[in-house]
Amino acid sequence: MSLHQLTAHALLEQFKARQASPQDAYEAVAGRIKALDGKIKAYVRLASQKHKFDHPGAFPIPIGLKDNLCIKGEEVTCSSRILKGFRAPYDAHVVEKIRNSGGVILGGLNMDEFAFGSSCETSCYGPTFNPWNLQCVPGGSSGGSAASVAADEAVWALGSDTGGSIRQPAAFCGIVGLKPTYGRVSRYGLIAFASSLDQIGPLTKDVTDCALLLNIIAGYDERDSTSINLAVPDYTKSLINDVRGLKIGIPTEAFVDGLDPQVRAAVEESLNLFKKLGAVVKEVSLPHTPYAVATYYIVATAEASSNLARFDGVRYGLRVKPQNLRRNALIDLYEETRSAGFGDEAKRRIMLGTYALSSGYYDAYYLRGQKVRTLIKNDLEQVFKTCDVIATPTAPTVAFRVGEKLSDPISMYLSDIYTIPANLAGIPAISVPCGFSKSGLPIGLQLMGKALDEGTILRAAYTYEQNNPWHTKKPNL
Ligand code: GLN
Repeated sequence: MSLHQLTAHALLEQFKARQASPQDAYEAVAGRIKALDGKIKAYVRLASQKHKFDHPGAFPIPIGLKDNLCIKGEEVTCSSRILKGFRAPYDAHVVEKIRNSGGVILGGLNMDEFAFGSSCETSCYGPTFNPWNLQCVPGGSSGGSAASVAADEAVWALGSDTGGSIRQPAAFCGIVGLKPTYGRVSRYGLIAFASSLDQIGPLTKDVTDCALLLNIIAGYDERDSTSINLAVPDYTKSLINDVRGLKIGIPTEAFVDGLDPQVRAAVEESLNLFKKLGAVVKEVSLPHTPYAVATYYIVATAEASSNLARFDGVRYGLRVKPQNLRRNALIDLYEETRSAGFGDEAKRRIMLGTYALSSGYYDAYYLRGQKVRTLIKNDLEQVFKTCDVIATPTAPTVAFRVGEKLSDPISMYLSDIYTIPANLAGIPAISVPCGFSKSGLPIGLQLMGKALDEGTILRAAYTYEQNNPWHTKKPNL
């Protein structure tokens, strides 16, 4: 295998044995980006600052970062016109952590505008394409992150996950993606979408890399008030090929209409394998999960409408100077900047969210949404009294075609049905590759765990991976 194809842990072995240097690895990946990214379009920009290869950090691994993470001095846009030209005044906490570990920052990765979407098509830069089939979407919103790793244009990447944006693109691109427990990773320097749901997490070529990257980014940070002040375990200690006695719950509600039979078959087969490997697999019920999508699209849009109010042409990015005075100079500036700066999906979410929060409707929508959110969280807590892990498909289908769902937002929203509950409840969840469709598109298995128990889902995912060939497959590019 060439250097750009290797996992981070394989590269680290090569560095140790002096078979390759971090600079060799960087050059291999940079060459790959140059050769291939015209087709995949995972990157929206390459880092302008040259990396110095004299850092003592233990992880000099080339990494790509979603375009909503601040890298000091670099442009960061959330793939939105409204932030064009905005340069980050400081490093995000995770970026500091990557730098301290010796990480080599490759550049910013494409995403749905402000992370609103499941296909990476709402980006102002245009779509990213799925490395397994260039006519298909890579998933979203961290589509650039997933596609870059699957296409070997990054060794690993960071994304953010508000309702599935790490796990679903990981599933669509045949890689591993993990959303940590809410509060496990600081969001300082992540441009907010929905503050009660957002988490940053790794997208990697295998589960070992996932544990390594989580080790680097997890931990307390006083600059994020939701950050959890508890010691971080060494997640590589959970890479144990053994699930004997592990209790895995399968929600009956997960096998609903609209689940692609090929996805169902692949997930059922993985559950059979878990049984063979000694896990106890049993049916459980999450009665309120059918309301998860509706709840999420109230809570998430409400928080987004509030977070996005700051983008008005005054302080950040785009400013449209009104040609004629219509109301008053300031209102005209806000209006014209926001009209020109936001794309259709962002406008839709701002309107939905503003409506859900508006006086007279707040009780009927936002408050009720918060109550149903608690019911969904309680369902999960109930099941975790008797189970260690809950397994579902990551997404109801494999990657769909570019353009297929763009004009039908509801069908796009429904594709988040399996990933949203973990965000509403704040619990960790991982997606691991679990097979391919007849058309050669990857399928993902989702494993959810108890709050702060990333270790157990990593162990289950690692065991699954060690007993399957899926993570070794590469798209033919
Ligand atoms: N697809 C979901 C949405 O459109 C989730 C996005 C995310 O996790 N950022 O909101």
